[in-house]
Amino acid sequence: MRKTILVTGGTGFIGNCFCKLLLAERPEYKVINVDVCTYAANPATIEEELKNENYKFYKTDIIDRESVEKIFETEKPDVVVNFAAESHVDRSITNPQIFLETNILGTAVLMDACRKYGIERYHQVSTDEVYGDLPLDRPDLFFHEDTPLHTSSPYSTSKASADLLVLAYHRTYGLPVTISRCSNNYGPYQFPEKLIPLMIHNATHDKLLPVYGEGVNVRDWLYVKDHCYGILAVIEKGRVGEVYNLGGHNEKTNIEIVKIILDKLRKPESLITHVGDRHGHDQRYAIDPAKAMAELGWEPTTMFKDGIVLTIDWYLSEEGKKWTEECTSGEYLNWIEKNYK
Ligand code: NAD
Repeated sequence: MRKTILVTGGTGFIGNCFCKLLLAERPEYKVINVDVCTYAANPATIEEELKNENYKFYKTDIIDRESVEKIFETEKPDVVVNFAAESHVDRSITNPQIFLETNILGTAVLMDACRKYGIERYHQVSTDEVYGDLPLDRPDLFFHEDTPLHTSSPYSTSKASADLLVLAYHRTYGLPVTISRCSNNYGPYQFPEKLIPLMIHNATHDKLLPVYGEGVNVRDWLYVKDHCYGILAVIEKGRVGEVYNLGGHNEKTNIEIVKIILDKLRKPESLITHVGDRHGHDQRYAIDPAKAMAELGWEPTTMFKDGIVLTIDWYLSEEGKKWTEECTSGEYLNWIEKNYK
């Protein structure tokens, strides 16, 4: 049976990968992308999707209640997946307000529309950062779905607030919700302010690679496509009202990641420069994905050693180079002005 799935933030890194996956593997879905196109959304990301007749794009802010309701009225989505967010921790430290607006209020607007028009499932894409961090000297500890929320940054606090709101809408109004909390993603089309694409970009241009402190903070890395398969599994097989952790048991320190990239690009470690640490910098993230694996039969299939090669190769490809160049030069903002104003 044909279904309509409304994806917010579908011009961003993970949302676009999810749309690509749906169009390739779930032809029964009509895919509606609702994205306001912040600085983090390069429209070149969705060039291919726009040619697909199963795909439609609305340049709309999720906090704009009236416009969101109009889209619901027109498209009548069966499933809503909310990726739209301000997603960069450093930016949340300098300007928290927009994080609260998009990540919390935007989530409420979407869920209100779901209540008003009726849906089969509302899925919230969340992060392991809602659990705070783990000490570096306790490698035996992991985040489980019932680990208390204990956030550090305005970003993670806004995401945790949204998660609580989603669970409250389930309990109070019976909205059929699910939440997935994922570890750090990497892969093509990630905005070059995030660790891996920034380091690839700087190394290829022989620029310094800034590493916070000694670079000993640990992150748990998952290839973006594996994350998207996990979200799909939660939507298709997950139990309503439940939270599912998605992660790859692939912990690496930031300095390890930087050195792997330099090694693959045959660039010297002398490009590394240590800079003052991020305020409130989380020490270690580590997800236990056992519940998703057991209940949904999901597991990551891309080993880090392969995923990082796929990622570097994409950023070095003609498409990747052009895409990154547009992001760093702000060229894409002109495109938005030209096409959507
Ligand atoms: P991203 O910054 O690449 O993309 C976010 C997208 O949301 C952009 O296209 C942006 O234009 C859009 N957006 C922002 N504000 C909006 C608004 N008010 N209305 C409509 N669209 C808006 O982020 P990402 O890395 O793709 O992350 C997507 C989701 O996954 C986020 O919710 C994030 O919290 C979550 N997440 C990310 C990671 C990661 O490692 N990147 C890990 C776990 C969870």
